[in-house]
Amino acid sequence: MPGRKYEDGEDVMGRWPGSSLYYEVRVVSFDDADQLYTVRYKDGTELELRESDIKKFNDYNIGKRNGEPEGLLRPVIHHRVTQAKNEEEIERSEKVLRYSLPPKREEIVPKEVLEEKVVEREPVAVSAKQLEFGGTIGTFLMMLSMPPALFYLLTKCQQQDPDNLFFVPRIQFTSLWDPAVLGFYILWLILHALIYMLPIGKVADGVLLANGKRLPYRINGFMALLLTSASVAVMRYYKINLLYVYEHYLQFVASATLISILLSIYLYARSLRTPEEDLSAAGNTGTLIYKFFMGRELNPRIGSFDLKYFFELRPGLIGWTLINFIMLLAEMHIQKRDVPSVSMILVNSLQLLYVAHALWNEESALTCMDIVHDGFGFMLAFGNLVWVPFVYSLQAFYLVNHPMDVSWPMATAIVALNMLGYFIFFSANNQKYAFRKSPDDPKLAYLKTILTLSGKKLLVSGWWGFVRHPNYLGDLIMAWTWCLPCGFTHILPYFYGIFLTGLLIHREIRDETLCRMKYGPDWDKYCERVPYRIIPYIY
Ligand code: NDP
Repeated sequence: MPGRKYEDGEDVMGRWPGSSLYYEVRVVSFDDADQLYTVRYKDGTELELRESDIKKFNDYNIGKRNGEPEGLLRPVIHHRVTQAKNEEEIERSEKVLRYSLPPKREEIVPKEVLEEKVVEREPVAVSAKQLEFGGTIGTFLMMLSMPPALFYLLTKCQQQDPDNLFFVPRIQFTSLWDPAVLGFYILWLILHALIYMLPIGKVADGVLLANGKRLPYRINGFMALLLTSASVAVMRYYKINLLYVYEHYLQFVASATLISILLSIYLYARSLRTPEEDLSAAGNTGTLIYKFFMGRELNPRIGSFDLKYFFELRPGLIGWTLINFIMLLAEMHIQKRDVPSVSMILVNSLQLLYVAHALWNEESALTCMDIVHDGFGFMLAFGNLVWVPFVYSLQAFYLVNHPMDVSWPMATAIVALNMLGYFIFFSANNQKYAFRKSPDDPKLAYLKTILTLSGKKLLVSGWWGFVRHPNYLGDLIMAWTWCLPCGFTHILPYFYGIFLTGLLIHREIRDETLCRMKYGPDWDKYCERVPYRIIPYIY
């Protein structure tokens, strides 16, 4: 039987059961039979933890980042019974309690209250173990149906008259295999991997992880976009036939699908040797199928090469804009036009703005859910390598065979609507990012906040007081606007709007669950203050 690692009376960091957050705790005793440590939290709560849920105090990179504690929760519960009259008073009393331990006699809460609160938090912890996306069956069906759904959409878009949506176009599977196409696709990945590895661009720190580490990331995505654009210009100059991609489009989709499946298998296999502390909480539960889909390892790296971050932002996102541009050339070629249609120019330029914005503000992606929370498995591999480039470019692909020229007034209205969505999207994201980076910045002093149990604050005014996910609202306005240049004759080019609406509604629900785990009752307080999730007065 293995011996104990931590001594009685030792101060260590203990994971809160079911969560990825660590608290300061003191070891009280150790049970040899169960191999469980009894630990005491700052507020007196005692719980039993496994050794894997405990870390040495010194190994845990505690500290304040930008004035806010990160990854560290001190479960001070007694402020809940404080009868403060208004938010400011609550905030003040919470601050006092949080930073002046040990508490004063009158602040000590009877044990029953503490126990009651622990019980209140436990269902939240359990929910972390609930399977998402319909569990094993749901994720299995998604993996099975997404590739055929994509081929169906694309072949329908290719048809001159795609009116009968139930007519399933026949695809000869053998025709999808083309070694030359696969070679070009791999070359595309290699070139982007090389750009990513260039020692150009700043290195930014990621968020503090549950294992106490902070990973460095090279920020040079915008440069990758510029280099890709320059290479395309050179290829055009030397009359290299970029229409090859359009002519072998389904073969490219098949190659990307194949690579995404191989990548997922590799990721799963390597995760079996990954230490538990480096696994994602969400992907390290359930059946093999579920884990394969969700991704077990949080940040798989080969040396300093971060696989998830690379695939999240580079080949797929930049590939989307390149495909759009190739569709623009294809439209001119097939429709025998000297200049592209206004619709095609709108789709290309509005989506390029979106991608360029994402890469210009690449650092903010370090805090997004995919990087911070989700493991790297089939969901993100297929999503980033296949779904993003080939589905998000559906409008441009559709326009090649279904020419549409919107009027100038309509084009102006589309641009105006897009800019409204873009404004909401970027100002909401910027506001939160700036606040998380420097919560005490005097320029943000006009924003109202509530302090949470974790020591972190939540914005309750500005964009984040308007609805709980204003960035999703902006994203959705843009998504639907991009469909408008395709006219109103068919639903196919509106697939992106429909898809993103479903994705962001589901994502919002996922984020709420995570935030409720992080912030407990404070999240409910925020929800009371800001009742609408994405669309004011509607949802
Ligand atoms: P968000 O940028 O929406 O961040 C959610 C996090 O913000 C929460 O977990 C919480 O984290 C923090 N937060 C929530 N409310 C508040 C508040 N009131 N005050 C301060 N912080 C708050 O996460 P996503 O990763 O989902 O989205 C990132 C961007 O990517 C969005 O703009 C989205 O539209 C876009 N996106 C686009 C997709 C596409 O395919 N086009 C797909 C998915 C996303 P904490 O408190 O820990 O900081």
